[in-house]
Amino acid sequence: MRCTRCGYRGKPRPEPLWLLLVTVGIWIVPLAFLAFGYWPFLLLPAIAVTVWAVFAIHLQCPACGAPRGAKNSASRTR
Ligand SMILES: [Zn+2]
Repeated sequence: MRCTRCGYRGKPRPEPLWLLLVTVGIWIVPLAFLAFGYWPFLLLPAIAVTVWAVFAIHLQCPACGAPRGAKNSASRTR
């Protein structure tokens, strides 16, 4: 993959990265409860955060910050 704005070659970075870490981290709790045979607490919040992360996290160029993989990147200004 190559950045269309600056021509950077390399892996795009998921942004925001902390949301990705939170999403992974919040699944540890219900999965740990499931592993010990208990009702998975935090399962619904984990699903909610995952849905939020799917919509919020996007890949962007680590060099210039241009979004990657978006077909109409111009309309995604926030
Ligand atoms: Zn770039």
